[in-house]
This record gives sequence, C-alpha cells and structure tokens, in this order.
Amino acid sequence: MSRAALMPVEDALDQLLAMASEQRLPDSESLPLSAARGRVLASDLVATLDLPPWPNSAMDGYALNLADLHRQPLKVSQKVYAGLAPDALLPGTCARIFTGAPVPPGANCVQMQENVEVLEDGRVRFLQPLKLGQNIRAQGQENRAGDTLLRAGKRLGPFELAVAAAQGITHLHVVRRARVALLSTGDELVEPGQPLRPGSIYNSNRVLLAHWLDALGCEVIDAGILPDRPAQTRLKLEQLQVAADLILTTGGVSAGDADCLGQVLRDSGRPLLWKLAIKPGKPLTVGHFGTVPVIGLPGNPTSALVTFGLLARPYLLRIQGVQDVMPLSLTVTAGFAWPKPGSRREYLRVRLEAGSAMLYPNQSSGVLLGATWADGLVEIPELSTHNVGDALRFIPFNELF
Ligand code: AMP
Ligand code: MG
Repeated sequence: MSRAALMPVEDALDQLLAMASEQRLPDSESLPLSAARGRVLASDLVATLDLPPWPNSAMDGYALNLADLHRQPLKVSQKVYAGLAPDALLPGTCARIFTGAPVPPGANCVQMQENVEVLEDGRVRFLQPLKLGQNIRAQGQENRAGDTLLRAGKRLGPFELAVAAAQGITHLHVVRRARVALLSTGDELVEPGQPLRPGSIYNSNRVLLAHWLDALGCEVIDAGILPDRPAQTRLKLEQLQVAADLILTTGGVSAGDADCLGQVLRDSGRPLLWKLAIKPGKPLTVGHFGTVPVIGLPGNPTSALVTFGLLARPYLLRIQGVQDVMPLSLTVTAGFAWPKPGSRREYLRVRLEAGSAMLYPNQSSGVLLGATWADGLVEIPELSTHNVGDALRFIPFNELF
C-alpha cells in the first residue's frame, strides 16, 4: 500500500462527523440530577432564579449605609445570620452580619469584622475606608432569571449539575443514550474467567471499551466474541443492527485477518473508509451494515485505544448532539528526540515530567500497560522530526473521557 492511499486523520474525522450529523439521536428523556452525569443536555437550561436571589454578605462583619459613616460609632440594631430574613436597617445604625446572610434593606456596604472596633457599650467604630457595595454579593451577579445557563448539547458533569441544583432544578432533559453494540472479533480471544487455551489470549478490549462507552453516556450492548469468519460476522451484524445506533468492533480489520469485517461491509454499497495515516491504528475501518454505521477498530489494544479516543469518541459525542467534540490539547516540550520522519501521524504514550513529555519505553501497539503509566498522547505529525525541547501537541487522557 503506497503512502498516497492512506487517508489523513482529519479527513477521516471530517467524514465521521458528517456521518454523525446524519445520525443524530432524535429522542430525549427527563432524568433526576443523580442519574444525569455524563449525559448530554437536550434543550437549553434557562434560569428561573436570580443568583444570588438577594444581596448577601461576602464576609462576617457589619452592614451599614455609607451615609451614616460620619455618625460613627454606630449602634448595632440587629443580628443577621445566613438563612434569616432581615428587617430594614434602622437609620443611623449598623447590623451584625455573617457570610451568606441577606443584607438588610437600607444597608449598602459591609465592613469585615477584622476592620472594626467594638466599644464597651457595644457600638461599632469603623477603622478602614469603605466603598459603596463593598463585601456585598449583588442580587443576580451570577445570573438573572431568564438567562440561558447551559446550551443544548452540553455534556453534564459535576459543575453543570451543580448549576442546575443552584436553580432548584431536580430533573434535566437529556438526549437518550446512544446504543452501541460492542463486538470483539478474533479466534484467539477468551474472556477472563475462562481457561487460557494454547495460542489464545484474554479479551482486554471489551472491558476497555465497555467502560469508556459508559463514561461517554452510551448504553453498551455486549455482543461478546466472534470468530474470524465472514459468514458468522454477517449473521451477527444482522442481529445487532436491529437494536444498535452503532456497531463497534475490534479486530479483524487488518490484512492478516483477511479483513473479515471489511469484506462484509463492502457489500453494503456505501463507501468504506479505511487505511488511515495514523500510527497506531492504520486499519481502522468505517462503513455501514444496512443503515447502521459500523466502526471497526484494530485489535491491538493500543491501536483500539488511540482510534477510539481520537475518532470514534468524537463521532459518539456528535450523534448525542455535542458540538464541542474535540479534546483540549496542550503544547508541551519534547523530552525525547525524533530523528526519523514517519509516513503516518504517530501518537505516543507519554508522561509529563516538569512539563516535558517522556516516552514510555515500549510503544508497541500491542502493549496496553503504557497507557496506565502515561498521562496522555503526544502527536508527531507526518514526515516530521524534532529535537529535545521542541514543542509538541499533547492530548491528556482525561480529555478523552
Ligand atoms: P487484529 O486487528 O484482529 O489483526 O488483531 C491485532 C492484534 O490484536 C492481535 O495480536 C490480536 O490477538 C490482538 N487483539 C485482537 N482483539 C483483541 C482483544 N479483544 N483483546 C486483546 N487483544 C486483541
Ligand atoms: Mg484478529
């Protein structure tokens, strides 16, 4: 296969995202906050409350009206704790106030308690200059009722759920889960718990991808292990296409497997995308079975990891309506030299040490352990070389969940 026939990573991504836009999940459901983490908001979240709902004190101290400052020392006319509704401030007095307590109507600033002197008769002298609004968290300073707080398509994590809770919201309208049928292919595979036959290996991709899919808000239809036989592959895909939004497979896409999945998908009449300029992961195969999209990841665990994270993940987020599907990346310094240019874009498992990317010593695509050691992937562009200290693009693993 000549280099010219390899598809650049961004072309593959463009095609996957175009496919995902055709495939957007139409249904949504209402879920309690406790069950909504990792899901995607189906409609805008609009505030029903001003936050804060009333002006409140940012400090433990004394609330007063600036116009009364020249009459100090001031008598303390009330004590306002958080959770109480204060009376209007009596003119010429101040109020003892605590953090989070509503500011009494009539008061327009708060002096922190460290900056006052309490006289023997209980009156208060203000020792430091004061400004209008000082130490008051104004009503609506975070948001006003009617403001759009979160847009449809936002993934819900702890921060977003807390924003909803602060509005008193108990349920959110979320896109239904993408149903992903997960299939491991390979005559050599056995599941953990089964005896290891001569020549066989344990299936690690299933656990890797089942957990990752779950973290991305998907429902996993576990379709087990399939031998490398086109007829059986076709039969299995026929069964799975009924319930699945996506069929995700590992293995059986490289030439050594006689490209079992590719053989089946080529019959669908729709274009097949495969042989990418990516390392690891070149044989990634994307197509359709009937109308259902199929993403065939390579079997090597790290190839599956890299292609799932960089290509299948954005696809899965986009069908759930997420706009922002690309992981955040950072520029880091290379802690290693790369003297030999490669024809494919390479993703290496690295750990950051004092801001420098250090290579896991064994970058073989069959080695999974490097991913547990590493903090993420650095990208080495096609046909490029670099020296120690040069800038590289780094994608933290955390960004891929
Ligand atoms: P394939 O893409 O089927 O040619 O597989 C490439 C390599 O990945 C082979 O060494 C396979 O044994 C290995 N492999 C395939 N599927 C899995 C799996 N589910 N878990 C662990 N290793 C796998
Ligand atoms: Mg195989």
